Amino acid sequence: MDFGRRDLLLGSAALLLANSTAARAVPTRKLGYAIVGLGGYGLGVIIPQFVNCTHSRLAAVVSGDRAKATRVAAEHGLGTGAVYSYADFDRIRDNPDVDIVYVCLPNAMHAEFTIRAARAGKHVLCEKPMAVSVAECEAMIAACRAADRKLMIGYRCHFEAYNLEAMRLARSGAAGKIRYVRSEHGFIQRNPAVWRLKRALSGGGSLMDMGIYSLQAARYMTGEEPVAVTARESTDRRDPRFREVEDIIDWTLEFPSGAIASCQSMYSAAQNHVLLMGDAGRIELEPATRYTGNHMWLGEDGREKAVTPPPGPRVTQFAGQLDHMSESVVAGRQPIVSGEEGLRDMRIVEAIYRSAREGRTIRLG
Ligand code: NAD
Repeated sequence: MDFGRRDLLLGSAALLLANSTAARAVPTRKLGYAIVGLGGYGLGVIIPQFVNCTHSRLAAVVSGDRAKATRVAAEHGLGTGAVYSYADFDRIRDNPDVDIVYVCLPNAMHAEFTIRAARAGKHVLCEKPMAVSVAECEAMIAACRAADRKLMIGYRCHFEAYNLEAMRLARSGAAGKIRYVRSEHGFIQRNPAVWRLKRALSGGGSLMDMGIYSLQAARYMTGEEPVAVTARESTDRRDPRFREVEDIIDWTLEFPSGAIASCQSMYSAAQNHVLLMGDAGRIELEPATRYTGNHMWLGEDGREKAVTPPPGPRVTQFAGQLDHMSESVVAGRQPIVSGEEGLRDMRIVEAIYRSAREGRTIRLG
């Protein structure tokens, strides 16, 4: 068994353990988070989730917009001492109220703020994609290791009820031996000015955004590490949105068991779908990885039945990931979706781009 696969299987076992009440390290206080980047995700999705948390609370905000940050802090009962700019962020080392820094910035800023946070003595939860290159991921892991801080990636689906149940069903053989996976994610990118379409900030197009979900799902649903990837990009470069980054990219992963995953991401149509085809049935999720409203079916072709999973480990997947990080910090344990997990994805992402560029299959080490 290669180490990648062994780590993933250990990760899966750890996931089940981490999500069981008995195994949880129970923090005696709520750990304080600093949210870096008050955009759609940091401000719109994550900050409102602290009310659902048991072990996590908002302790500081970091933004380029002082007025906005001061307002957000005040709305959450925090004073101006809890407000930081990107320039003076390193002062956070002197704030004992902040245990964990959550990086919710454009992808190309993840490495810088993760490394600065670790050097300031803080644990880090960093959004996906972990960074824009393997080299950056390695530097982030090294910085957190040198500072003896935990590093987790915002792979929220590992705390989402439907994805957890699908993983359990797939691993327990409910669909037989998994032979083929389809994993497709996209949305219509309507704003031509958004940072997601600027390579210097995003590191790439739909693959760096929705494609991460397709790739992650193929890996966590099969519990295997791919040994080869073959990719193809189809982008209309005359479309002004796609002058710098790709629109549609599809890639095939080959797994050691012989299973194949056909994955895709795009910025010109909406889709959110994962299908596992086994020799005894199918497990299908559509939508598969949304914030809410996912659906799942299990059964033989034509006789699938809707599956309602047991409730997730927490009120929401977001509270699940925030509290899991807090518990990991208190227990001194690696989070189930650590920096190493983000690095594994980034190695495959680089191989996908290389395969598409060079028009050949890339074997993965
Ligand atoms: P956004 O554009 O809504 O917010 C980005 C924030 O970064 C804004 O507050 C912006 O002011 C700030 N920023 C700082 N420097 C900037 C610069 N040079 N250019 C542009 N913005 C700058 O983006 P978002 O949707 O909040 O995404 C942030 C991160 O979160 C991304 O890495 C994204 O992949 C991730 N994300 C994850 C999920 C998820 O479900 N896990 C969902 C959405 C976004």
